[in-house]
Amino acid sequence: MSSPVLVIQTAFLGDVVLTTGLLSYLAERAGPVDVVTTPAAAPLLETHPAVRRAIGYDKRGTDRGFGGLVRLAGRLRRESYSRSYLPHRSIRSATLARLAGIAERIGFAGSPGSWSYTRRIAPPEGVHEAERLLALAEPLPGTVAAVSLGLTAADRLRAAEWLEAKGIDPGFVALAPGSIWGTKRWPGYAELAAALDGPVVIVGGTEDRGLAESVAAAAPGRAYVAAGELPLRVTAALLERARVLVTNDSAPLHFASAVGTPAVAIFGPTVPAFGFGPRGSSDRIVEHKTLRCRPCSSHGPPVCPLGHHRCMREVSVERVLGMIPVSGDRGIRESGDQGIRIP
Ligand code: SF4
Repeated sequence: MSSPVLVIQTAFLGDVVLTTGLLSYLAERAGPVDVVTTPAAAPLLETHPAVRRAIGYDKRGTDRGFGGLVRLAGRLRRESYSRSYLPHRSIRSATLARLAGIAERIGFAGSPGSWSYTRRIAPPEGVHEAERLLALAEPLPGTVAAVSLGLTAADRLRAAEWLEAKGIDPGFVALAPGSIWGTKRWPGYAELAAALDGPVVIVGGTEDRGLAESVAAAAPGRAYVAAGELPLRVTAALLERARVLVTNDSAPLHFASAVGTPAVAIFGPTVPAFGFGPRGSSDRIVEHKTLRCRPCSSHGPPVCPLGHHRCMREVSVERVLGMIPVSGDRGIRESGDQGIRIP
């Protein structure tokens, strides 16, 4: 029996979610794959049906430095992988695959580590990132990347119990106000929580807890903080029960896509054309279409270089509210308005 394929993806959580389309495609052809990923993302992949084994690589912690890289490469070498895919474009990933003795190393042309690849794929332009990553497997033109998560019955049960303990029925509005990058955070979540009627659940990681609590304080008795309380897959299972997620251009958007929950995605310093927008027919994008400084960086800077942060401050609560489906309706209200235009 041939050895499984190895995929090395140690980027951010959202990138890992978007890589699941590639993982599923590879698994359909040659069986479940092994994936090297971050310790944070490993729980997301370890139950995914396309994944045989999620291998945690703590590149900033216990495995940091060249010594950590060599130790992991030694472990991988014992698996005798014959082929690796390198969706993360770093030199570190490229070096790891090479040190692990993997004969075939496939990555994107133009990546910093591309000198060491044995096959370089031109990244397709004008497509969603999920399809861009899938391109590494050279699928037939038009193949859609099936982004998904391997939620277990236990994940769904824990999410249901969390909601039940707080008396929240399915169909609530979820909010994800956080982002690693400061300028990607829309400042209107607290006002939005206050303006909504019905229960609101605020999701995110431990680092978002303070922000989530400040949003919840705007809707006392009706808004509940899940940020930092639940593991990733349970958070995804929670989102699965939401009517809609209102989010920035950040990882929760891709979680919602993966579990089929409509999203209202607010873009500030970045634009959907980068390839990280929502893809569902019920999803909506809110953005300041006429601001000439947009986009100002690929990720969104920590603070606005112009000092005014108009790309987010001028997205009104009323406009976001207008994009949210009415209670009991899983689709998005037909407003005919798919983007904010501010004169
Ligand atoms: S420069 Fe423009 S796009 Fe960038 S953060 Fe400031 S307002 Fe937003």
